[in-house]
Amino acid sequence: MRDQFGRSIGYMRVSVTDRCNLRCVYCMPAEGVPCVSHSDILTFDEITRICRIASSVGISRIKLTGGEPLVRRGLPDLLRMIKEISGIEQVTLTTNGILLRDRIKELAANGLDGVNISIDTLNPERYADITRGGNLKEALAGLEAALSYPELTVRINCVPMEDVPMEEYIRLAALAKERNLDVRFIEMMPIGLGRKFVGVSGDEVCERLAEAFGMPAECTGRFGNGPAVYAHFPGFKGKIGFIDAVSHQFCDTCNRVRLTSEGVLKPCLQYGTGADLRKLLRSGADDEAIRHEMSRTIYEKPACHHFSACTSNAEQITDSFSDAGQTAAGQTDAGISGQTFETMDMSQIGG
Ligand code: SAM
Ligand code: SF4
Repeated sequence: MRDQFGRSIGYMRVSVTDRCNLRCVYCMPAEGVPCVSHSDILTFDEITRICRIASSVGISRIKLTGGEPLVRRGLPDLLRMIKEISGIEQVTLTTNGILLRDRIKELAANGLDGVNISIDTLNPERYADITRGGNLKEALAGLEAALSYPELTVRINCVPMEDVPMEEYIRLAALAKERNLDVRFIEMMPIGLGRKFVGVSGDEVCERLAEAFGMPAECTGRFGNGPAVYAHFPGFKGKIGFIDAVSHQFCDTCNRVRLTSEGVLKPCLQYGTGADLRKLLRSGADDEAIRHEMSRTIYEKPACHHFSACTSNAEQITDSFSDAGQTAAGQTDAGISGQTFETMDMSQIGG
């Protein structure tokens, strides 16, 4: 369906857990976050029901995410249940890859269409620092396992950070030269702990890659589900993608909504607002009532995020986030008046 600004919304990111086996510095505090109790997390039947209703309002592609989706027991079963819904054309997964080697066979057998693996560096010490203890070898074993299924689209996601030498991003990008995969650079977003880190713009990474590999050709056509702009470097098997959510706002073509593990349908990453579908589900609402609430939420999707306000004025915004009520204090822009900004970390929302 289309929202109030005419954007076609066909993609839903579904968080299946707020838990994670890593603690990436920009995503989760070292001590973790207070875990949502099991009874508050949507069951597989509830998620599947929401996906079925979502498909009836035009959602055709689903991404399973978290937290770390592979820490949720039985995830391949959920994948199969969603794949069986008529109208759902694609189900993909975003994972840190640590558990992927052991799960990929069942995931592939149950119809997984693609996997994005988050690896920010190929330097084992830095990887352990960023993830607070993660073992790069395990993530790379997950990557290799995924690549052994040629029918899967495999992508590496990397969030570049200011203090990391650019050589490490060049090395990461070089994986797309030899292997059948895409490497995507995602700008650090001022969400949760991300507000404390300085990211690197996609333009800067692209410039340095061009110095290393030669001028890229821009890829035309649509690849993947979202806003990444892809470039093809000479002699590369795969593409290099840039998701420049901060430096090049792409809200006018945003096609997605998010379902949190607690069943809140969020129309935009940056705002704390959303529809409590779990409440409806558990109070016995029929499909029509849930469809109505989903349609309303999608229709009312905000025009755009205001990341730039957060990054250019981080202190003030951070203060305003911690105010009681969590409203965007001091913001006068009509687009956000009365809206509340999201206070959760990315792992809790479902990145
Ligand atoms: N655990 C899985 C993973 O790491 O892929 C899925 C969830 S994680 C929240 C999804 C993606 O969000 C990861 O690629 C991660 O790097 C990214 N992410 C987390 N916090 C971010 C931030 N503040 N800005 C940009 N990307 C972020
Ligand atoms: Fe976990 Fe993914 Fe967040 Fe890292 S980015 S802490 S792996 S949810």
